[in-house]
Amino acid sequence: MSRYVVVGAGVAGLTIARQLSAAGHAVAVVERDEVVGGLARSWHYGDFHFDVGPHRFHTDSPRVSSFIREVLGDDVIEIPRRSGVRMFGGFHAWPLRPSVLFAMPFKYMVRGAFDLLRRERLEGESFEADIVNKYGRTLYSIFFEPYTKKFNFASPRDLHQDWGRAGVNRAVIDKRASADTLWSLLKTTLLPKPVETTFLYPPKGVGTFSEKLAEDIVTAGGRILLDCPVTGLDSDGRRVTAVRTSTDRIPCDGVVWTAPLPLAASLLGLPVPELEYLSTVFYNLEIHAPDRIGFQWTYYGGDEVFFHITNLEQDWDVPHGFAVMGANTSELLVMPGQTQTITWKPTRPGVFPFYCTDFCSALHQEMQGYIRVSPKGSSTKITYNTGQ
Ligand SMILES: Cc1cc2nc3c(=O)[nH]c(=O)nc-3n(C[C@H](O)[C@H](O)[C@H](O)COP(=O)(O)OP(=O)(O)OC[C@H]3O[C@@H](n4cnc5c(N)ncnc54)[C@H](O)[C@@H]3O)c2cc1C
Repeated sequence: MSRYVVVGAGVAGLTIARQLSAAGHAVAVVERDEVVGGLARSWHYGDFHFDVGPHRFHTDSPRVSSFIREVLGDDVIEIPRRSGVRMFGGFHAWPLRPSVLFAMPFKYMVRGAFDLLRRERLEGESFEADIVNKYGRTLYSIFFEPYTKKFNFASPRDLHQDWGRAGVNRAVIDKRASADTLWSLLKTTLLPKPVETTFLYPPKGVGTFSEKLAEDIVTAGGRILLDCPVTGLDSDGRRVTAVRTSTDRIPCDGVVWTAPLPLAASLLGLPVPELEYLSTVFYNLEIHAPDRIGFQWTYYGGDEVFFHITNLEQDWDVPHGFAVMGANTSELLVMPGQTQTITWKPTRPGVFPFYCTDFCSALHQEMQGYIRVSPKGSSTKITYNTGQ
């Protein structure tokens, strides 16, 4: 029996800790946060369960899915995957269906057809080369390039193809929806029936998985130390001999590190790798209305901003309008109980007022606000003050 310290109680750390403790090793999981789950944790608010952004268990590996089922027991459901993209002015199911071909501007259709006939060949191992060689320049420039830039703030030109392939495979998952070339992608699109893929999900949030892993670890004699950031690593020059927290020193024969790598390097006095981390802002909404879009995950392409305006008035004679400079919506009238959507594309940095365009009530003049459009790459914080 060996003594292991696992740093980080996300799915990676907990899965390894569960396997180690089931194999009879003494395991301590050390976690900075007050709850387990890391990026795949959940929290609960009234009857609602929130994950850190949309999370789904989707795999084509029977071994992985039977492990997930084993851990979750009865707390799992299998549901059809519903993903979407918003492109060319409308919502489209992903993997794409023929409707997207008809929504495509004519020039892209022509260019796409041309790509099928004449293959551009790029040298190298970049994600750009991989996509252009497989699907052609048109699909690259209308979908993959802006998607990657929006998600990762990096150009596919600067990313290795392995990263991109993993992402594309993850998006497709089902081998029937083959997408190795533009031809096969097109064939998938034209299948009479969409390829139905499913995923596993614990109804009380993806965090249930980590909570169950933690229970299994404790049942097998392991320890989970929460609210316990690692502050130091002792080493004999060859291996880590103990993990330090603000209150404890935990001697060990081995460490599994799943927290950010630069921290491990700096605690060991090694050169710290220059890794960039992206911050993500999540908005969690409690919505008491039927789902209007029907997708569990939707990618919004382009730079358009969407305003979904709902009129919450109780009195039938209080409509509201909505305008923002350049959106040309002066005729918009949202009646009580209605929701209307407008799109707006910022064309330059600046501060743009938006306001109600219908003289609705005595509080009409309060119905206004501002949108700030920052220059590209800007890191100026959005703050407000009351002038004091
Ligand atoms: C919006 C979003 C959606 C996603 N959707 C999916 C999906 O649908 N399917 C899927 O498979 N994956 C999805 N992922 C990816 C998935 O969430 C991650 O790959 C996974 O949760 C990473 O687990 P991890 O254990 O490696 O890392 P983490 O979850 O980051 O765990 C690391 C842990 O280390 C802890 N830690 C950090 N510093 C210290 C310290 N000094 N001392 C102690 N502990 C420390 C952290 O608090 C954290 O709990 C998604 C991710 C995001 C952000």
